[in-house]
Amino acid sequence: MKTTPGRPDTHPSSRGNPPPIIGVSACLCGHRVRYDGTDRRESFVADTLARHCRLLPICPELQAGLGLPREPIRLEGNPGSPRVVSVNTRRDLTDHLSGQIEETLDALAGIPLSGFLFKGGSPSCGSVGVPVHAEAQEENTHRPIPAGAAPGLHPRAFLPVPGDRATPLRSQPGMGLFARALKKRLPLLPIADIEALRDETARAGFIERLFVYGRWSAASRQARSPTELSHFHHRHRLLVRLHRPGLLRPMEHLLASITDPDPRPREQVRDQTWGEYGELLMRAVAHPATRHHHERLLGAILRTLKKRIAADDQQAIEAAIGGFTRGDLPRIVPITLINHVQRRIQHPSLTGSWYLEPDPTELALSCHA
Ligand code: SF4
Repeated sequence: MKTTPGRPDTHPSSRGNPPPIIGVSACLCGHRVRYDGTDRRESFVADTLARHCRLLPICPELQAGLGLPREPIRLEGNPGSPRVVSVNTRRDLTDHLSGQIEETLDALAGIPLSGFLFKGGSPSCGSVGVPVHAEAQEENTHRPIPAGAAPGLHPRAFLPVPGDRATPLRSQPGMGLFARALKKRLPLLPIADIEALRDETARAGFIERLFVYGRWSAASRQARSPTELSHFHHRHRLLVRLHRPGLLRPMEHLLASITDPDPRPREQVRDQTWGEYGELLMRAVAHPATRHHHERLLGAILRTLKKRIAADDQQAIEAAIGGFTRGDLPRIVPITLINHVQRRIQHPSLTGSWYLEPDPTELALSCHA
């Protein structure tokens, strides 16, 4: 079986909004693509994400023609630029796999990915803490794959060298080859290992980042005037305030700088500004938001509204925030009450905020976080 990038799994669309496209390690979807012909199906991916998003399953090892079943591989050497070596026959697959991964990423270039979810621990897919083993004592014992050969299909061409074993003395944490190459191409793209998302806060944060990045990358691909960027920022302002309020100042400084006289061509200023803004935005939302952060922001929103709402509305919102703080109510309860009064008074600083009015798909997914 070979996965094909460029054809996301189909799924029922959600209320007219294009669903986010999420790349995933194919084995997490239940595809039997692991070296031993098994899968690592995860219900959060194969059931929940598949219901609300378009999934793009990719197995970089299968894409590279390593075959099925195939010999397991592992990372060795320098964690900053590890080699990929087959465990038993000691073949050095680094160049072959790297070349194939670049081709896979070229094929992905036209697809507006919102994020990528990896099977952790894999020498290809793991995005963090993948063991990088110490190299074998013997130098030059790795046997590079001849150009054009698909190693999984030609095992006899690479017979093991007698006594040629890696030394399993120690390992250091590194990053899988595919995850590393993807991060290099799309440094702002939200990525995570599925194992990290067992934590509730981490899962909610990843879902939120998918949608923030999706909006930023869609907006930055289209015509983008300074006014559009200001509007975009206005809608994300509360999210930044929630996660990293300290980044609001450099963001607003950046927005103010667009109108200053600039000798650079207009297009260049525009591209650079959206790029710099995106870096700050993704850095902000990468910071985890705890219940306490939400409570603080909801309290600040209530203070903003206070002078313009009736006492009983204020008490109802205060009670709902209290219920959320104690863990008795979900966050959507105070947010719904705030939206109820906001619809009436239309406070300009809250209009259109993605924090108060998240994308319906994001809202549906957050129920599983
Ligand atoms: S972890 Fe990655 S390379 Fe390994 S089987 Fe799953 S998709 Fe393929």
